[in-house]
Order: sequence, then C-alpha cells, then structure tokens
Amino acid sequence: TETPPHHAFTLSPIGFIESDYPDKFGIPRQPGLAPAARASLILVPPFDDPLAVRGLEDFSHLWLTFLFHLSPEQGGAEGWPPLVRPPRLGGNAKVGVFASRSTHRPNRLGLSLVELVEVDTRRGVRLILGGADLVSGTPVIDIKPYLPWAEARPDARAGFAPKAPALLSVAFSTSAEATLAERPDGDSLGELVTQVLAQDPRPAYHRGAETRIYGVRLRDVDVRFQAIATDEGTRIEVVEIV
Ligand code: SAM
Repeated sequence: TETPPHHAFTLSPIGFIESDYPDKFGIPRQPGLAPAARASLILVPPFDDPLAVRGLEDFSHLWLTFLFHLSPEQGGAEGWPPLVRPPRLGGNAKVGVFASRSTHRPNRLGLSLVELVEVDTRRGVRLILGGADLVSGTPVIDIKPYLPWAEARPDARAGFAPKAPALLSVAFSTSAEATLAERPDGDSLGELVTQVLAQDPRPAYHRGAETRIYGVRLRDVDVRFQAIATDEGTRIEVVEIV
C-alpha cells in the first residue's frame, strides 16, 4: 500500500458562517473595519457539543481559522501565485503571497480576529460574532480565544499596511433613507452600509471611473452606490437600496 505523502492531511470544518455578506465583493479587507457586521458561526456535529465551548463566553474576542472556500483550489487552473498585488498598494506593486493576507494562497486558510457577542447553546452551538470579514457559507476550521496580553502588539511593524485604510465619507439619497426608515433593522443596516462603503470597496483599477454605479449586497438588499470626486477628495453616495 502507498503511504500518503508526509505533507498531506485532511481538515474538516467544525462549522459554517452565516453573515451579513452574501457575496465576497464589498466585504472589508480585515475584521473589525465594519463592527456593525453580524455573523453567526453554527457548529456542526460532532462539534456542536455545548461542552466544547464551555468558558468561551468569558472571552470578548476569538481567532477563527477558516477556509477561503471561494478561492481557487491549489493546483487548479488559477492556482496560487507566489506574487500577489495587495489592493493596499493600488493593485500594481507585488509582494510575496506569504507577505500578504491574500485570499489566493496555498491551503486557502484564513485567520480573523472577531468579537464574540453571544454564545447560544439552546439548540446545538451558535456563536454570534461582530465585525467578521467572512462571506456567508465560509467553512470554519478552528476557534481560539484571543489573549490580548500575548497577542496585541501595537508597536509592531506592518510593512506595506502600516495603519488602517483611510475612510471615505458616505451620504444617503432621499430614496435610500426612506428604504432604511421602513425596515425594522434600518438603523443597524444604515450603520453597516456606512462602514462598508467608507472602506471604498471599488476595485483599485476602477477608481477614477466616477460615473459608474456599483452594487454591494448586504443582508437581503442590494446597495447601489456611486463615487463622487470633490475638491476635498472622493465621497460615496448611496443612490438606492433595493
Ligand atoms: N482576516 C482574514 C485573513 O487575514 O486571513 C481575511 C483577509 S482577506 C484579505 C478578506 C477578504 O476575503 C474579504 O474582503 C472577502 O472578499 C474575502 N473572503 C471572505 N470570505 C471568503 C471566503 N470564504 N472565500 C474567499 N474569499 C473570502
């Protein structure tokens, strides 16, 4: 019998994400940038045992290891490139994949620090999370509590991404305001829309094409927006929420 290569192994998801983000497009590029984003991590059998999360509720933040399941598989036609173009560098300059947080990487593993809002063990296990940067359906591989005394390093050097990205200002049209006002979740949705669009989700290579209307799906709506160039820089206008 053939022995498997020593580097091959199998991982099974312990659960799956249900989030405010039905699509990849528009999701902030790191966790915490849209704190209004809500997600649930629903554990699956046999990991949905309340004993496995005992004590977790005493931690405010968690590390999630997950699979970038929407990225191409290693070895596929698209594969993983050794060099990537971080959006932060305007989409031109390249860095090594291991010097980046690219979603196109060997093994497709992601790592996000998220807020733990609630642990619900009434039926199975559901963790309510804040600020996650994960698309709905993301398979989660592991959970670990965050230890600020060991893991917070505010003085660390951060290469090409030394600080949080600059925010754009976001305004709503009368029609978009009216749609929000009609919804029971209007306040939190408005907050989420503002936080997501302030990140300027437009692809780097489109910036400057100011007339175009973009769409970002959040929760059950399509948010149509436009970038408007002004003397003070670019601002975002929410045209309508459908
Ligand atoms: N914080 C994580 C990390 O550093 O590993 C993710 C960073 S990655 C740059 C964030 C982007 O991943 C989001 O903007 C979203 O477009 C994308 N994304 C989120 N969930 C994904 C998934 N399941 N598969 C592929 N891409 C995903």
